[in-house]
Amino acid sequence: MGRAAFGLAVGCAVVSCAIAAVLVRKGVERRAKWSRVVGVLREFEEGCSTSGHRLRQVVDAMAVEMHAGLASEGGSKLKMLLTFVDNLPNGNEKGLYYALDLGGTHFRVLRVHLKGTKQKILDHKVEKQAIPPHLLTGTSEELFGFIALTLKRFIEKEGDDFELQPVSRRDLGFTFSFPVRQTSVSSGFLIKWTKGFAIEDMVGKDVAECLQSARTMLGLDVRVAALINDSAGTLALGHYHDEDTMVAVIIGTGTNACYIERADAIIKCQGLISNSGGMVINMEWGNFWSSHLPRTPYDVDLDAESPNPYDQGFEKMISGMYLGDIVRRVILRMAKEADLFGEVGKSLSEPFTLRTPLMCAMHQDESSDLREVARIMEETLEVSNIPLRVRRLVVRVCDAVTRRAARLAAAGIVGILKKIGRDGKGGSSSNSSEGVRRTVVAIEGGLYENYSLFREYMRDALEEILGEEMSQNVVLRLSQDGSGLGAALLAAAVSSSSSLSSLV
Ligand code: ADP
Ligand code: MG
Repeated sequence: MGRAAFGLAVGCAVVSCAIAAVLVRKGVERRAKWSRVVGVLREFEEGCSTSGHRLRQVVDAMAVEMHAGLASEGGSKLKMLLTFVDNLPNGNEKGLYYALDLGGTHFRVLRVHLKGTKQKILDHKVEKQAIPPHLLTGTSEELFGFIALTLKRFIEKEGDDFELQPVSRRDLGFTFSFPVRQTSVSSGFLIKWTKGFAIEDMVGKDVAECLQSARTMLGLDVRVAALINDSAGTLALGHYHDEDTMVAVIIGTGTNACYIERADAIIKCQGLISNSGGMVINMEWGNFWSSHLPRTPYDVDLDAESPNPYDQGFEKMISGMYLGDIVRRVILRMAKEADLFGEVGKSLSEPFTLRTPLMCAMHQDESSDLREVARIMEETLEVSNIPLRVRRLVVRVCDAVTRRAARLAAAGIVGILKKIGRDGKGGSSSNSSEGVRRTVVAIEGGLYENYSLFREYMRDALEEILGEEMSQNVVLRLSQDGSGLGAALLAAAVSSSSSLSSLV
């Protein structure tokens, strides 16, 4: 070999070694990045863990807090509010009733025609519209002006859908799904706003009166016969169809639950008069808190940056308003940890850019290349060119968030069953001679209705906590439009006292 050739060979070998070294370094770097990102995910999954043991602790904590909230005003983060609903519709109600449903992203107006004599609802019409965002933080006059005007326009269309006798005065059920201290079945004061509403001048005001003033201005002859929240409406509709319905749960923008309690168990209101021996209690369970809840740093940050820190802790782990944003926070942390996410725009850093329905679509993407995940990440979060293995991590984040939410909701339900002695364990108010009774839980809300994996996880957790045999006695039943229809039914039940029957 000549000198020149030798020199060339040595040069080539040096260059090859250098390239190999660079490749090895890049490989090592990539693996290190990958393991950092996977580390973030694993840590999050562990933080969200809801073992059977932990769920049972949540069940017990829920039952204990329920007792405390019923024992004294302010005795628990669970407000356990009286609804004054002591009689539920039973199918004998007759006539034409209206309902308004306000409490989340949409506002609904309903007209319900009841035939009576167990023929149940004859016909109903619902109109749904989005609430203009500026009304969430404006004044009470603006919000109620909008509600009354929508109702007026709806009433003006009366007769378009079904033949009606002329009506002199219209009775209305008003579903107002925020914490309200009721003073009667048809009146109550707003305690605080939740779910992104913040109309300061309204806190402490009588909700029915606010609507009354707006109606008067528009010359509408309508009377609020029942002021309730969505969970009470759902319970009313559930009970109307199936008398074993004892509990109702909302899992939509927010989350809440109500149930039928014995009047004598409501210690904070001794001497409470109930015609049926029972009363619907609005738990406001969104505000439930226990040290057993699996909380991660992402939940802490979401809470701190929310308009209502230290409030609605259970809701912030379960409901549709928040799930998408928890996922976004975890993805953002992963993207900061390593540049495995391709190009990242600023949307990923903006709160609430990832809405829960989109998170659900990513979670339930069944395509082999997870192209829905890639599309949503690109179009919504401005994160493009994500490799497939990183898309899989995104799906795991969605899974951890939803699994935790669904399992906690199930534990909450079992907590209620325990409190009313229907968990099959002979709780405080159970009557062992009656054996195990069938209990129906009516569930309403866009998250529960549209998210099949959520429903699956919830059912599994219920079975895990109660045991397979006992869980057969607990029916989770999807309710549709219960919050509105139930309000019209309650307006009817209150207006005609024909509906009295024992509740407990
Ligand atoms: P509201 O709670 O405002 O009365 P809904 O019960 O209809 O209204 O619930 C709406 C909420 O349900 C939305 O805010 C969203 O979080 C959730 N949601 C709606 N559609 C879906 C979906 N396809 N997947 C998951 N969550 C959904
Ligand atoms: Mg609703």
